[in-house]
Amino acid sequence: MAPRFDAIVVGAGFGGMGAGIELDRLGLGDFVILERESDLGGTWHVNRYPGLAVDIASVTYSYSFEPNPHWSRLFAPGAELKRYAEHVADKYDLRGRMRFDTVVSGARWDAEQNQWVVSIEGGEPLTARYLLTATGFLSQPYTPPFPGIETFAGKIIHTTAWDQDYDLTGRKAAIIGTGATAVQLVPEVARVVEELTVFQRTPIWVVPKIDMPIPPVVQNLFDRVPLTQQAARLANTTALEALMVIGVLHFRQAKLLNRGAGLLAKAHLRTQVRDAETRRELTPHYDFGCKRPTFSNTYFKTFNEPHVHLETNSIERVEPDGIVTADGRTTEIDTLILATGFNLWDVNFPAIEIIGRDGVDLGKFWRDNRFQAYEGITVPKFPNFLSLNSPYSYSGLSYFTTIEAQMKHMGRLFGEMFRRDAEVFEVTERANTEFLDRVTEKLESSVFYDGQCSTARSYYFNQHGEAALLRPTSTLNAHREAVSFPLDDYVYDSA
Ligand code: NAP
Repeated sequence: MAPRFDAIVVGAGFGGMGAGIELDRLGLGDFVILERESDLGGTWHVNRYPGLAVDIASVTYSYSFEPNPHWSRLFAPGAELKRYAEHVADKYDLRGRMRFDTVVSGARWDAEQNQWVVSIEGGEPLTARYLLTATGFLSQPYTPPFPGIETFAGKIIHTTAWDQDYDLTGRKAAIIGTGATAVQLVPEVARVVEELTVFQRTPIWVVPKIDMPIPPVVQNLFDRVPLTQQAARLANTTALEALMVIGVLHFRQAKLLNRGAGLLAKAHLRTQVRDAETRRELTPHYDFGCKRPTFSNTYFKTFNEPHVHLETNSIERVEPDGIVTADGRTTEIDTLILATGFNLWDVNFPAIEIIGRDGVDLGKFWRDNRFQAYEGITVPKFPNFLSLNSPYSYSGLSYFTTIEAQMKHMGRLFGEMFRRDAEVFEVTERANTEFLDRVTEKLESSVFYDGQCSTARSYYFNQHGEAALLRPTSTLNAHREAVSFPLDDYVYDSA
């Protein structure tokens, strides 16, 4: 029996939509996009906390083939990203092929029928020739198991489940976490609450954010002369690329640039925070780039406000009316905001159970061996499977770079499948090992291994201490390889 669908895509964020657009282009339009949330947009649907905005300039953080001339700011607010996602879904006719509130519980390769069988909670399994997972990197929220948290009598909000109806005015609030989310959220919460205590375990590097509204005259220019927006995208992407490739990946050869970025962040802190002790506590003790750096003109300043407190003692337990720190003090609160991020390495790689050829479990394979994926997209023993959020797949600083490189990889791979009239592809062990060896060697001179990252607690590192998230090559290299990888890195089988 032929499978029901050409392809099943899991995830209706920008990654899943890019995959859908490419499947259509390849003539594999009979696909379905399964999404656990009630609407499309992934991160930009789930995250709605105050202050949410993109931290890569919008000319770059968008599909190159679908520019939006009407971004209101250099760094668009979250709601605009959500509207952009809706526009893309409608324009590329994806919405009708999305199924929301559909939780995929697992997928299994059926070698008899050469198809994937995808299980759905509370529903019938679906079958498809190809499976593509686009479940995101930062999609499994993490709540630390603070002792006593279940006894807290006030309101608990994780930043990924913001309660729009909860009024923060006059509250005594705590924010736990000082990652990129907290950097955006802290100034907004401070504006309305009576008292705010920010619990920091590891300080974050913050550099100034060069942000401003994009005047209508420029938006019109982008609209009428698309080349101008393309030029802006090229200039911005080049600057980001230099930062990433030179400052992070070639840390060993270009320590000065990395140090320069650190000095800029320290100068920013110096000019923004009046109290020397607070400045000391906010100063990172690991190299710039070990963790994703952030941009803000308002985060540091907030700590000058008399009702905002920085707490660096570790959290011992939560009680019904407050948080007790290791020094025995209780901070009384009625609102507990968890800006505690995501769990990548225990539950997100992969986000669902995936069983390939010979019963191999992808999650177990990655944990028992090393996290790996050829070109950050395919894995031996997993035929007809594209894992779009894989170890070593994230290329550059804008996720759209990764998405579009993977779309190109799909184009080349499926082109060869069609030429051979094949039904099944699988990456070879040899090609996978060579890729893993290559990225492992390249990472040696990166800030992750040559710098001082041991105290950063960065999610770039997995439980084995490997920085297995980012692809350690330029985005140009990622795009070049996506259109030129050796075709015999795969084996192809006909029906
Ligand atoms: P995150 O960077 O993982 O930060 C989580 C924070 O929670 C960290 O400060 C962490 O401290 C703290 N934390 C976790 N467990 C804790 C515990 N047991 N006790 C005390 N503190 C604890 O998560 P995020 O801020 O949500 O950001 C994740 C990523 O999302 C960013 O790096 C960025 O890539 C993306 N993001 C992007 C945007 C944007 O584009 N606009 C905005 C927000 C987020 P430690 O550091 O000590 O672990």
